[in-house]
Amino acid sequence: MGAFDSLSLEGKVALVTGGSRGIGASIVRLLAKRGASVAFCYRQQAEIAQALANEIREETGRQVLALQTDVADPEQVRAMVEQVRNSLGEIDILVNNAGIVRDSLFLRMDEAKWDEVLNTNLKGTFLCTKVVVPMMVSKRWGRIINISSVVGLVGNPGQTNYAAAKAALIGFTKSLAKELGSRNITVNAVAPGFIVTDMTAALPEETRNRYEGQIALRRFGRPEEVAEVVAFLASDAASYITGQVIVVDGGLV
Ligand code: NAP
Repeated sequence: MGAFDSLSLEGKVALVTGGSRGIGASIVRLLAKRGASVAFCYRQQAEIAQALANEIREETGRQVLALQTDVADPEQVRAMVEQVRNSLGEIDILVNNAGIVRDSLFLRMDEAKWDEVLNTNLKGTFLCTKVVVPMMVSKRWGRIINISSVVGLVGNPGQTNYAAAKAALIGFTKSLAKELGSRNITVNAVAPGFIVTDMTAALPEETRNRYEGQIALRRFGRPEEVAEVVAFLASDAASYITGQVIVVDGGLV
């Protein structure tokens, strides 16, 4: 891909949270392929993360940095961003992807499950965005992409905590887009439907079949199909798109 291609990310520095597995890993791979230097964080599985970083480095020849960081911890987030700045430079593209589920019907939903999901999926996005935005403001260029979910749009039984966090990310995205537009920073959300990752692997076959029947394309999505949209939003090709929610669900909602 040439330097003048509008999808090229040549010369950009990206940070992807939760990039060691699933959708995040596909995003890291594609951003590097398009020419960005990419840092990503993970919470626990260091071996998987380092193996992925090595693989993508060899595959793309780009700089890839894997950092162990809990996005819900302000100190760790500050340290992560400092390390990215020192190793790769100022961050141009932030993808808030780290997310967890702690499903339970509401009558059995305890405070711990509520807090864990809100702290990682929503507060984590606030904390990462908070430390990265000043860099983008001074550059007068930035791309922030928040990974929401169709569950934040239509709800899902057993996921009041997750749906609340994912819906909140949409309000956050739209408000921040209005604040930062004058600085040439775009803020968008991507709302995936059912994507084949560890997160959905736990679904019983019967549930999976039922969901597949409701999807126009009659199949779950692949992580790469979400990554394509994120890489587009991160590029110059998406320069006039901000405050939007792009649904990538094969026609579910
Ligand atoms: P996944 O396969 O479970 O991977 C989650 C990633 O996030 C891992 O890299 C994990 O690191 C990291 N992570 C979890 N908690 C973290 C924390 N506190 N700090 C830093 N990193 C953390 O998930 P996925 O299915 O790819 O989902 C990615 C995003 O897409 C999530 O926001 C999810 O809500 C959203 N989404 C997924 C689907 C779907 O069908 N899969 C649908 C809609 C939206 P470790 O491995 O070290 O724990």
